[in-house]
Order: sequence, then C-alpha cells, then structure tokens
Amino acid sequence: MDGVIYRENHLLPDAQEFVQYLLETGSPFVFVTNNSAPTPEDLVIKLKHLGLSGLSPRHFYTSAMNTAEFLQETHPGCTAFVLGEAGLSAALLEAKIPNDSLHPSYVIVGEGNPSNERIAKAHELIENGARLVATNPDNWCPVKGNQTRPGAGALAAYLEASTGQRAYYLGKPNALMFSRARQKLHGNPQEVMMVGDTMETDIRGAIEIGIQACLVLTGSTQLEDLANYVYQPTCVMSGVGELLEELRGGGETDRKGSPAFFPFEVVAKSGDRLQTEHAAFRKPRPRPAMTK
Ligand SMILES: [Mg+2]
Repeated sequence: MDGVIYRENHLLPDAQEFVQYLLETGSPFVFVTNNSAPTPEDLVIKLKHLGLSGLSPRHFYTSAMNTAEFLQETHPGCTAFVLGEAGLSAALLEAKIPNDSLHPSYVIVGEGNPSNERIAKAHELIENGARLVATNPDNWCPVKGNQTRPGAGALAAYLEASTGQRAYYLGKPNALMFSRARQKLHGNPQEVMMVGDTMETDIRGAIEIGIQACLVLTGSTQLEDLANYVYQPTCVMSGVGELLEELRGGGETDRKGSPAFFPFEVVAKSGDRLQTEHAAFRKPRPRPAMTK
C-alpha cells in the first residue's frame, strides 16, 4: 500500500479513483502488506481517514495473517513467544496459536519496538530450542520523508546473529504470501496482477509465482534502479492513475507514451509487456571499498 496507494499520511494521485473503480466494477482485489503491526480492521480505519471508503477487512492480507496461517497449517498445536504488535497477536489468536513464554515452539518476530528484556528472552528461548520465524524480511520501513525505522527483518537478523539460528521469513516476497493472497481473489492466475513499488518484495514474489507484476514509480523504486535486478516487472507505470486509464480503456495503453519513461529518451519495448530496456537507462553503481 505504502508507495502505491498512499505515502505517509496522504493518498497518492488517482489512488481514490483507482480503488473506487475496483469497488464499483466488482473487480476482486486485496491489499498485501508486509506490515504485521496493524489488524485488517485498523487498516480499514486508516484508509478511511485518508479518504478511501467502502473497504472492509477482507480487502487486506497482512504478513501477520500469512505467518499465523502458515504455522496453523504446518504445525497444529504449536505455541509462540511473540515480539510484535496487535496485528500479529490478533492473527495468532484467530489461528488459535497460544502465547508461551516457557517452552514455545516458535519465537515470532514482527514489526514493533520490543524492550531489551523481551529481546533477551527471545534469545534465551531460541537457545533452548524454539525456532525463529519472522513475519517479513524488511530491514527497515519508511516513516516520513527519508526517515526510516528498523524493521522485523533487522530484529530477526539480530537474533540470528546472537543465536546462530536462521530465521524463516514469511510475508513478501515469500511465495506463500502471494499464493495465499491470490487464492483470496478466487481468480484465474492468468488474470491476477500484482501492483507494487518495491522490487525486492512486490515484483520478485509476483514473478516467482508466475503472475503479472506491475511496478509503479510512486514509491521506493526509480526507473534507473531496474538495471540492478535480475528479475524485471512485466510492466512499468508512473502510478495507479495510468493503470486506471488502462482498465477504463479495456486494453493496454500506449506504453511508449507512458510518463514513467519521461525524462528518458529511451522508449519502451513494444510488442509485449516486458517493456523495460533497462540497460539503456542504467546509472553507475557505487563501488564499495569492501563488502564485509
Ligand atoms: Mg510498498
């Protein structure tokens, strides 16, 4: 959602019209987020305050829900010690996974800001045999402007370092997150498109499960970043407004005229939706003095 529909506390251009169009036409959609802190109900309220009404909890699938569903299915009767917020606790409650601070099957790391005491407790429990699971691999999350905060991935990495145990990461780009979200749409996989702003999570996961991946340039990725990735989006758009135009038109818009490619002289490839001739607008990469 962040970087596609809203940024900080305001909707991005055309986001309201885009979501309204999906609701009015009955097009199945689900917002897929790696933020395990809010519940779907919290997200309905947040988006309502930003100006998107008509949404319900079923329109959201969080990494906390993905984690709880995965553990419920693969390990019935398991217990967990949780470093996370209400969204994660609610998802685990729904999946009937009890809290356990004595001999948990798992230590689950989600988004949040746990105390040093709780982190030390998590370390101890992992040392005593609990397995380490993280709701998402994000090392940092955007806060405001260029400001960031540490993410669940960073805290999981800390515990990996302190215990020598490797975490298993749910959420994007894990294929389980994408296949679950896709199942919720009950659609033909060929007709499902992931719209996202982040290459490592949104685009990578979509490509890996074989659905279309539309990169919008309203968030964390710029066009010239594409050359750094092995996997590529199936289409690039300046924002959801362009996608709305395409949906309303009932066909593909003229990619070569996409504002996404302004101010580059290079035009998109024609003929298919793998439109990025990325080598043409690559930028020099900084060369670190050392990698360790
Ligand atoms: Mg995003």
